[in-house]
Amino acid sequence: MDFAFTKEQEAFREMLRDFIKRECPPDLDRRLDDEGRYPFELTEKVVDTGLLGLPFPEVYGGSGGGPMEFVIAAEETAYGSAAVAAIFILPAFFAGEMLYMNGSEEQKRTWLPKVARGEVRGCFGLTEPNAGSDAVHIETRATQDGDGFVINGQKTMISGVDVATHMMLATNTSPGGDYSGMTLFMVPTSAAGFTHRRMGKIGSEIIGLFEVFFDNVHVSQENIIGGPEMLNQGWLQLMKQLDMERIMIAAQYTGLAARATDDAVEYAKERKQFGKTIGSYQMIQSLLADMTVGTQTSRLMTYYAAWLKANDMPCNLAASQAKIYATETARTVCLNGMQVMGGYGYLREFDMQRLVRDSLLGPIGGGTNQIQRLIIARELGLI
Ligand SMILES: Cc1cc2nc3c(=O)[nH]c(=O)nc-3n(C[C@H](O)[C@H](O)[C@H](O)COP(=O)(O)OP(=O)(O)OC[C@H]3O[C@@H](n4cnc5c(N)ncnc54)[C@H](O)[C@@H]3O)c2cc1C
Repeated sequence: MDFAFTKEQEAFREMLRDFIKRECPPDLDRRLDDEGRYPFELTEKVVDTGLLGLPFPEVYGGSGGGPMEFVIAAEETAYGSAAVAAIFILPAFFAGEMLYMNGSEEQKRTWLPKVARGEVRGCFGLTEPNAGSDAVHIETRATQDGDGFVINGQKTMISGVDVATHMMLATNTSPGGDYSGMTLFMVPTSAAGFTHRRMGKIGSEIIGLFEVFFDNVHVSQENIIGGPEMLNQGWLQLMKQLDMERIMIAAQYTGLAARATDDAVEYAKERKQFGKTIGSYQMIQSLLADMTVGTQTSRLMTYYAAWLKANDMPCNLAASQAKIYATETARTVCLNGMQVMGGYGYLREFDMQRLVRDSLLGPIGGGTNQIQRLIIARELGLI
């Protein structure tokens, strides 16, 4: 058994840490979160790190990272900078990884270099008012119209639409509406008939959340991800990405938990009550010790799932286990971090309240943790 990263992976992690230390002042995330603002001013610098091209090889303008590099990047950006994470995750995963896994050769050559340069920013449109966990039953229709398609319908709770150039859009293209008829389109967000409206939420404010309306949006069959022969193949295309999405989320929430733990430990070493630092009290020590146990277990489960993926071994079970454990642990760890900081943990001027709010999304996004438990039950042969 070898727990070591390669020298290149260690150097990549160090590079990200240095970048975040240099370019992202400690209060940047809090300011952006308060303003609900996307950090366009950082985009070019993030492009220079190669993060946006991480999931695909140099031949397409990328940096050629695998699952381990993606996990390192997701963990470090969640730990150090929600701003960098916001610039990195949506385009790199929902445009870069999506097109690399499912695009036609021509689409990869056309679009991936632009993703790596930050010129194409993707968002992902699956969820609808009547189709959340039951995502196969989406109702947004793409109807054949001559050589192209006309799209009508509505998506809800879609991240980052306002800053995206394109939406990776799941549509229903089957006459009967069953799940064999899903088709993925890459739709420009500037298309006529494409409108969006911001929704209010309680965390992760750097990336906005939107309802999206499609009113006779015309697209060509060349906009089908993978090309015209992928008509009605969208569900299978999505399945290819799901395990990596869960591993990526597990890495993000491991980073968030690590950050809450480190902030709480620092605070406990400084804050004095009854003439002693609160970190000298055993009840606080116990909370902090448990926070490290949870975070480290999340990390090991996440790395294990990524290692299986990197070595082309089945990782469905490990990915769901890691996603459940890391997201539920992050929620507990962040709440305990707030407890360690007392009233200050609840104040806007400290980061802990932001970490708590952000941690609440983990068990919901990327397939809820109930759905992950169903996946595990299926792996156990119970369904
Ligand atoms: C901040 C945020 C960002 C998001 N970003 C995106 C995005 O970019 N793109 C996108 O497409 N979507 C996005 N979503 C949507 C997200 O993926 C959905 O919220 C999620 O899939 C759950 O769907 P739902 O909210 O409709 O809940 P529902 O499916 O209605 O579920 C409600 C509850 O019932 C449970 N449940 C449902 N079915 C079962 C079952 N069979 N067995 C047991 N329990 C069940 C669920 O686990 C949950 O607890 C985002 C959501 C949020 C809050």
